[in-house]
Amino acid sequence: HNISELDLPDILGTIHEEVTARLGEGEQADYIESLADVPMDRFGMALVTVDGDVFEVGESREPFSIQSISKVHTLTLALEAVGDELWERVDREPSGDPFNSLIQLEYEKGIPRNPFMNAGALVVADVVLSSCDNAEQKLLDFMRRRSGNADVGVDEVVAKSERQSGHRNIAMANFIKSYGNLRNEVDRVLDFYWLQCSLKMDCVDLARSVQFLSNQGHCGVSGEDVVSEELATRINALMMTAGTYDAAGDFAFYVGLPAKSGVGGGIVAVVPHVMSLCTYYPGLDEKGNSLLGRYALHRFTRMTGLSVF
Ligand code: GLN
Repeated sequence: HNISELDLPDILGTIHEEVTARLGEGEQADYIESLADVPMDRFGMALVTVDGDVFEVGESREPFSIQSISKVHTLTLALEAVGDELWERVDREPSGDPFNSLIQLEYEKGIPRNPFMNAGALVVADVVLSSCDNAEQKLLDFMRRRSGNADVGVDEVVAKSERQSGHRNIAMANFIKSYGNLRNEVDRVLDFYWLQCSLKMDCVDLARSVQFLSNQGHCGVSGEDVVSEELATRINALMMTAGTYDAAGDFAFYVGLPAKSGVGGGIVAVVPHVMSLCTYYPGLDEKGNSLLGRYALHRFTRMTGLSVF
């Protein structure tokens, strides 16, 4: 795709205008207390081409809680560490159930449906923990190198809030542990999981952090080869089929890009071989995906013709 023929600043400007007229729609994730009062008057969007050019609009430099977007990065670390063995402990199917659902875990004997539901992300966190001495540092280093921002860090207030309202995740981790699918202590896994969810980054950081997925595994920000081309293709496939939970079908339908959302209001998306993107708007739809983020990505693929379909 020849993106030099697209007027990207103009397209982002149009999207910004359309979205501005709708600010206030949706609801913040109120089950995590500190996310409930995030202002709803902000929208940001950034894209990073495979050549490293950045285009951005709105509050693209406003840091926010990345939440489940971090599941892409921990999955990458887990696959780097154990390769295909991961698939003995986590499946690769879309779930059709909400991100925090436990329902399939009993039928499937503690094997989560996919790495992007909370259950799958807990097993992935366990794998990352087992693969090194300091998983927290490993993840922070990974995020900083991918985004080029050495200041990426944890929002301790959010982390605390996650812990206080984490009853369902606590239940889930114990349930998985009862099937023997967590090797580390439940509390250790949960702490790491909450830390990854509490990382604070902005749209530009996040778009850069997944640039390797648009660029055949090569991270242009650090110049490092992060994963093989095959692995990048596979991670994108999982984002397409499960990255937005039980709205993955709708995302394919309206947006047509591998994407990963978080209840903090961010969504990252990948146009393979072309660019990576991130949108931010804290108002969520009933499936926990940013409402105007999804709209913006829909408009983007329609105006550019960049849907993978
Ligand atoms: N920290 C959130 C949770 O575990 C992440 C969920 C999300 O972003 N979808 O419930």
